[in-house]
Amino acid sequence: MLNIGKRVGDNLLKRRINGIVSSRGAAISTAVEKKETHGFSLPQMPPFDYKPQPYSGPFLDEILQKRKQYLCPSMFYFYEKPLNIVEGKMQYLFDESGRRYLDAFGGIVTVSCGHCHPDIVDAIVKQTRLLQHTTTIYLHHAITEFAEALAAKFPGNLKVVFFTNSGTESNELATMMARLYTGNHDMISVRNSYHGSSANTMGMTAQSKWKYNVVQTGAHHALNPNPYRGPFGSDGAKYAKDVQDIIDFGTSGRVAGFIAEPIQGVGGAVEMAPGYLKPVYESVRKAGGVCISDEVQTGFGRMGSHYWGFETQGVIPDIVTMAKGIGNGLPLGAVVTTPEIAQVLTQRCHFNTFGGNPVCAAGGHAVLKVLDKEKRQEHCAVVGPYLINRLRELQDKYEVIGDVRGRGLMIGVELVTDRAAKTPAQVETAVVFEKLKDMGVLVGKGGMYGNVFRIKPPMCFTKEDSDFLVDVMDHALSQL
Ligand code: PMP
Repeated sequence: MLNIGKRVGDNLLKRRINGIVSSRGAAISTAVEKKETHGFSLPQMPPFDYKPQPYSGPFLDEILQKRKQYLCPSMFYFYEKPLNIVEGKMQYLFDESGRRYLDAFGGIVTVSCGHCHPDIVDAIVKQTRLLQHTTTIYLHHAITEFAEALAAKFPGNLKVVFFTNSGTESNELATMMARLYTGNHDMISVRNSYHGSSANTMGMTAQSKWKYNVVQTGAHHALNPNPYRGPFGSDGAKYAKDVQDIIDFGTSGRVAGFIAEPIQGVGGAVEMAPGYLKPVYESVRKAGGVCISDEVQTGFGRMGSHYWGFETQGVIPDIVTMAKGIGNGLPLGAVVTTPEIAQVLTQRCHFNTFGGNPVCAAGGHAVLKVLDKEKRQEHCAVVGPYLINRLRELQDKYEVIGDVRGRGLMIGVELVTDRAAKTPAQVETAVVFEKLKDMGVLVGKGGMYGNVFRIKPPMCFTKEDSDFLVDVMDHALSQL
């Protein structure tokens, strides 16, 4: 298993370890991937009664060539030979040849209800035909109705909504509110977190590969309460002490706030050690700060046990940020907070052109209704543990699986070459990642070392899909 890396060329290795192939990267196939599968019968994808439309191009090579020519070279794609996905239906995607894939990544945890869910498409089309855009300078019922329905999903005094276009914008706005409300500047986030790509949210993001070397002020990064890799195991209170230390030793003693993802998404589906947020929130509030929960990936019932990630730690934040799943693919985000905190934005004019756009509001409202109607939270509470159990059976079979973790349909599988040393198995992860795709399963890949499979499918993902995914992973791992 450990020799695989030696067989892979240096450049390819570097790109694979990053989990990506840059758009300038050439596709190289290796002996490992060409190995035949004689003697095995490949697992079969569950049947699905849907026929994709015929597709007549443009095809992969032409698109790739144009992408290289016209789009920024920073854009990366998954897989040595990228996929040209042309159609989607619920938890399945279809490529240019009509081949079906099981989507276990949901457009990076964004397609919450399912690709092209008919209720959501209908709501979007209906609103688009009537009125697409005016901005909030005029009244529109879709925005207020959506805000009312969204606010109803929150406990306590979290009752005021500001719509945005993305997760980055939501976190940017939340941080500004925190700073204005408290009169303080310093923010504390958690190492291995991801909060966005603007200068300020990049400052709070705490993984070097997502940070450029530009000025990022006022962000402090606390120890990651990672039960698998952290120094204190699952003792949340011990990690929480580090936040108090940062306040005492790294700031004036007064802070604007604290922001964390209840389960780190980009960081590799790392759930916080239990008992962490309560003492952290106490320390932060004592220092004059507010507490922000970044629910961009964890919200809307995906946890199964709860609708929001923060509820898993028994706390109520002062500000909640969201995006991705709120729109099932629409460019939509939101910040939800208390009336008192929201009031600070009235000090000046604050405005964004598209936040609360009628089409996005109608689509977002339809998402909430579908999640309720189809009982997706309850579904995640059943399918998630089932999938985690099946993955743990694989862990018993393969030494290379160091950790299986997660909650509901937000799951991480971390590969290591040595269980005791927890050495990241980057090359093995990259090889299996390609093989899963070859057999029709699309998962995500992440974590600081690119050695974690991220399984966060549309919430309509079934037990049969779970079985297929695990059988395919079993097959891929057996070939390492
Ligand atoms: N917060 C979290 C937890 C995220 O996962 C992301 C995106 N991966 C963001 C914020 C930023 O969202 P966006 O890409 O929509 O700006």
